[in-house]
This record gives sequence, C-alpha cells and structure tokens, in this order.
Amino acid sequence: MRKPLKVFYNCAKCPAYCCSYERIEVTPHDLRRLAKSFAISQREFKKKYTKKGEEKGEIILRHKKDEHFGTVCQFLDSETRMCGVYGARPKACRDYPKSARCGYYEFLKFEREWQDDPEYVALTSNC
Ligand code: SF4
Ligand code: SF4
Repeated sequence: MRKPLKVFYNCAKCPAYCCSYERIEVTPHDLRRLAKSFAISQREFKKKYTKKGEEKGEIILRHKKDEHFGTVCQFLDSETRMCGVYGARPKACRDYPKSARCGYYEFLKFEREWQDDPEYVALTSNC
C-alpha cells in the first residue's frame, strides 16, 4: 500500500480561504453527484446553486456573504468553516491545493506567528 502524501498545511486550522475563490467549476460529473446528494434533479441544482462562469458552457458555484473574505461558496458553514457538501464536493475542491503545500496556509502561519495570535485570519488574494 502506498504511503499517504505528507502535507504541510492543516485545513482544520484555516478559515477555508480556498472556498472564497470565485470560480469553483462544476463539471457535468460534479453536477450529477451534487444533485444526487440533495436528492433533486440536475436542472434544479443547477438553477438553485450555480451560475454561469466566464468560459462558454462553464458553470460555477454561487457565493454568499462572509465575515472574513467578503464572499465564500454558499456551501461553506460560516460557523464551523467546514464544507457542507464534503462527500459530494466538486473535483476542483478535491484537487486543491494539488501539492504538499498550500500558499494561503503558509501565509497564514507566518502572519499568526508575526502577530503572536494563533486565531488571526490573514486577508489576501495573492496566494
Ligand atoms: S486554504 Fe489551504 S489550508 Fe485552508 S482550507 Fe484551503 S487547502 Fe486547507
Ligand atoms: S463545495 Fe465545499 S470545499 Fe468546495 S468551495 Fe464549496 S464549501 Fe469549499
């Protein structure tokens, strides 16, 4: 059995910066999985929870207001900062950050040490 990849970030200590990304794509496969998890039709899910993206035919998740990042994915629980559709989340969310390090987490760790505040939430759009 392959060893799990060692990672240098901890999502449990992060307010889910990645969920503030404006363009979380929903592929046709994601759409099927998400609609099924809500026990509604794909058409209904698409209408209620997605909107058109910039690319032709692209659909993305809708956002809601957020106290930290302005807006975040509507499926993010504002209190727990956990994904409300974790088992059915889009591929884009499953894949992120695609490496052993997360840029935002590196920045967050640095800021928390600098501010001497383990709860500090760093605001940036540069990672
Ligand atoms: S921004 Fe990075 S550390 Fe934070 S929840 Fe997303 S992947 Fe995890
Ligand atoms: S579906 Fe879940 S993991 Fe993906 S952006 Fe929304 S809250 Fe975050």
